[in-house]
Amino acid sequence: MTTDFFQVEALFSEQEIDFRDRVRRFVQEQCMPVIVEHFDKGTFPLELIPQMAEMGLFGVHIEGYGCRKTSHTAYGLACQELGRCDSGLRAMFSVQNSLVMYPIHAFGSEEQRRTWLPKLRTAQAVGCFGLSEPDFGSDPGGMSTRAVFRGDRYRINGRKMWITNGPIAQLALIWARTEDGIRGFLVETSTPGFRATAIRHKFGYRTSPTALIELRDCEVEPGAMLPGGSGLKAVFSCLNHARYGVACSALGSAVACYETARDFAAEREVFGKPIAAYQLVQERLAIMLMEITKAQLINCRLGRLLDAGSVRHQQISMAKLNAVREAMKIARHARDILGGRGILADHHVIRHLCDLEAMSALEGTESMHTLVIGQDVTGIPAFY
Ligand SMILES: Cc1cc2nc3c(=O)[nH]c(=O)nc-3n(C[C@H](O)[C@H](O)[C@H](O)COP(=O)(O)OP(=O)(O)OC[C@H]3O[C@@H](n4cnc5c(N)ncnc54)[C@H](O)[C@@H]3O)c2cc1C
Repeated sequence: MTTDFFQVEALFSEQEIDFRDRVRRFVQEQCMPVIVEHFDKGTFPLELIPQMAEMGLFGVHIEGYGCRKTSHTAYGLACQELGRCDSGLRAMFSVQNSLVMYPIHAFGSEEQRRTWLPKLRTAQAVGCFGLSEPDFGSDPGGMSTRAVFRGDRYRINGRKMWITNGPIAQLALIWARTEDGIRGFLVETSTPGFRATAIRHKFGYRTSPTALIELRDCEVEPGAMLPGGSGLKAVFSCLNHARYGVACSALGSAVACYETARDFAAEREVFGKPIAAYQLVQERLAIMLMEITKAQLINCRLGRLLDAGSVRHQQISMAKLNAVREAMKIARHARDILGGRGILADHHVIRHLCDLEAMSALEGTESMHTLVIGQDVTGIPAFY
């Protein structure tokens, strides 16, 4: 039985439900059987990427160039289903769509769109988004990566840290400081001077390939710069989509943990009866369901605000903060209900818990989103 206490499904269109169900089937049939093994090894199931492309999962924010646009709500439901299995899968989907294809479409030249969007849609190319640096994560405006125009080319120097898809990408959208402020550059990862090194020993986002990217005198043509977007405004417009994706992914993880714990509690007998019969276990399950329901309603409303083009970034901050924070609490309740088994990857809960730890940092930390809301409430920025 699908968890939907307040009949939130009634708020989605038939097309949105159909899209979600296709992703759900893909997750159930193709992803779930392989994910524990990949989590254990810290590898990404690369063979799933062409299958995702075949299902039309890349290019969902775009109409044209062979892409079929879905609603933001449908995108959120896909993130939820992928996140229900594994956050690394969802991250691959979100980065390709929200952080690479969307900015190329929104800020790119016609030539850039024609060159890259069909390749990204069909997964002939995987993209990554290079914003964060070793010394500038929460404060991307301080970035030290520079693109200097010399002769007839830009020369890029700098380092980008924590870059999802970085080790497997053919294309990197690198944000760098120029004479005209912060600009995005489409850099082929085979360009001399570009190096992506996989970050190892990660205990969150284990399946997701994450890189440290170093750019040393990496030269690109002027045509590599996105002409339409400059400054942090362009950056944040991409992150808005991706943060909504994180909120939905965290909700998917929470649902997976809740359903695992609910089913386990019904079967596991201790002191002669199922643990579901004990009040303390029931209290946990009730709290988990209540928080899932709140997040479902917030995320659904956020999807609709995005669809209507009337969203405020503070609303996205609240949804991301709420979904990840509550999902972490739900995962901990589930871990407890499962007893010792709660730490086994094949019961899934511990995988989600580790991934949620990473999700509380990426796409803006819990503290930064709290400060965004604090500023909205008081009118006073407390970031610095
Ligand atoms: C798995 C993973 C994948 C990622 N993928 C990408 C990607 O694809 N592309 C990309 O560009 N980046 C990516 N990131 C980077 C991510 O966005 C940053 O990690 C995040 O923005 C936080 O930056 P930081 O790690 O440098 O932490 P810091 O900014 O150093 O923050 C450290 C702590 O200080 C707190 N803090 C900072 N400033 C303040 C303040 N003013 N007031 C109160 N507290 C404060 C923070 O909340 C945090 O608790 C990824 C990160 C992870 C972990």
